[in-house]
Amino acid sequence: MLERDRMRCIRCGVSVEHRPRSIHHRQPRGMGGTRLASAHRLSLLVLVCGSGTTGCHGEIESRRSHARTLGWLISKFEPADPQTIPLHLDDGRRVWLLDDGTKTVEIAGA
Ligand SMILES: [Zn+2]
Repeated sequence: MLERDRMRCIRCGVSVEHRPRSIHHRQPRGMGGTRLASAHRLSLLVLVCGSGTTGCHGEIESRRSHARTLGWLISKFEPADPQTIPLHLDDGRRVWLLDDGTKTVEIAGA
């Protein structure tokens, strides 16, 4: 996953090589992501800048309902495969994360 995201925050693109960084789980345990099968799916893990209270990670955690509509958080009641639920970036592009460790990024303006 670190390789997929090339040490950059997937949300804002900043390099996190020398900055606080954390791994955001799109389906946190509190939201029902307790099944082992889903806990380590690469489509559910994203590298973001900041901690749980700062940077992009902080923003995701502080605006959870907003994050849910943008794909950063996935409800345990969501029947769709997380691989089919895109992350919405601030610039309007969408990113699909796949369990094989790759991602598909929408071309800007497409
Ligand atoms: Zn960021």
